[in-house]
Amino acid sequence: MFWDEKIECLSRDEIVSKKEKLLRETVRYAYKNVAFYRDQFDARDMDPGQIRSIDDISSLPFTTKLDLRDNYPYGFCAVPLSRIVRVHASSGTTGKPTPVFFTKSDMENWTISMARNCYMVGIREKDVCQIAFRYTLFTGAFGHHLGADSIGATVIPTSSGQTERQIMMMQDFGTTVIHCTPSYAITIAERMREMGIHKGDLSLRLGIHGAEPMSEELRGEIEERLGITALRDYGMTELGGPGTSIECPEKNGYHINEDFFHPEIIDPDTCKPLPNGQTGELVFTTLQKEAMPLIRYRSRDITHLETETCGCGRTLIRHGPIIGRSDDMLIIGGVNFFPSQLECVMLGFEEIEPHYVIYLKKKGRLDHVSVAVETHPDFWANAPGEKIAELVQKIETKVKNDIGFRMQIKIVEPLTIPRSEGKAQRVVDER
Ligand code: AMP
Ligand code: ZN
Repeated sequence: MFWDEKIECLSRDEIVSKKEKLLRETVRYAYKNVAFYRDQFDARDMDPGQIRSIDDISSLPFTTKLDLRDNYPYGFCAVPLSRIVRVHASSGTTGKPTPVFFTKSDMENWTISMARNCYMVGIREKDVCQIAFRYTLFTGAFGHHLGADSIGATVIPTSSGQTERQIMMMQDFGTTVIHCTPSYAITIAERMREMGIHKGDLSLRLGIHGAEPMSEELRGEIEERLGITALRDYGMTELGGPGTSIECPEKNGYHINEDFFHPEIIDPDTCKPLPNGQTGELVFTTLQKEAMPLIRYRSRDITHLETETCGCGRTLIRHGPIIGRSDDMLIIGGVNFFPSQLECVMLGFEEIEPHYVIYLKKKGRLDHVSVAVETHPDFWANAPGEKIAELVQKIETKVKNDIGFRMQIKIVEPLTIPRSEGKAQRVVDER
């Protein structure tokens, strides 16, 4: 019933004492090998030896995405480059990606955590797992691949896209588990309907969906349309991708792999730790990373922690659904981006003015992004329609290439976008 009962069902005292030992090692290791942490500690006159218990963690400084950006590309790397065996990345706050590095041991630990998670949701040797996360710099597909592979299931690495072919493969190879974003699960269901394929024509029984929120309503729809149990998977590039936490079939929270990641909940405004059960920002400290240890990394994801033992028998602490973010990051079809990134791309065109609004809408179940943006009044006054169409085309292509998905760009008349007197409202979320 468990992949590793010795870890998944420890008593709270046992897991805390295990984590304290790992925390002491991590803090010493980060101090010794990452200049950023050494500087942070030295500036506070702190000695890594002062950190002895889990409670001491609240005296440690936080790490943010901005810190990672300021130390791009290798500043957070704690090992010589020769020991790095893998690099992944996701979008950062500017044009530069946020990278994560793995040593051999990090890859082994990633495999262990994903095997545990895949087993927890119910994947077994006889399953046929179709990995329809994108095999790119993103971590998702590779993590799920490792987990299903080490259980001994059959792995079909289709990547995402080519949906008809994807459905054909599901039919022909008897796929039982689909791994993809919730929005792609809906795309698959819609294409199945267009193709006249019924859920009963497939062998699917389980979906693992991550990289973006899946509401209970959306879960219900995916389950009904694909005839599966749909479970949520959580992670982020900075922590090494999926493997941080996953929902068990009880569907009452995501179990965190606490021997690899220590979670805290803080008030995002005061940065003070909150007691278990209260809602705030999830913060993680890695406990066994070699290439890129992170201390108190601010995820910006808002949720709460639950400590009671779950109906599945696991004692690993759980976090609830992610109910929002404490920054302006947007997640569209599993790809995250910041309004500032789009701004950078658009302002690369000399005709464009820095006045824009991003509209988020639902088209069916899918997110649709359109952007209204103004041009210089001179350009607007003198450009014929085809010049504007050409500019739209160029911006759309650049956005697709740089950010990773299509947004519809609309050039609007100068001075029609409301000017703000405070914080500009750049995003209108009509979803
Ligand atoms: P990335 O680094 O591109 O994988 O993005 C990580 C972010 O995606 C997280 O910080 C969350 O905001 C979001 N995310 C990942 N999994 C989930 C999930 N299951 N529910 C809600 N948001 C998620
Ligand atoms: Zn459980």
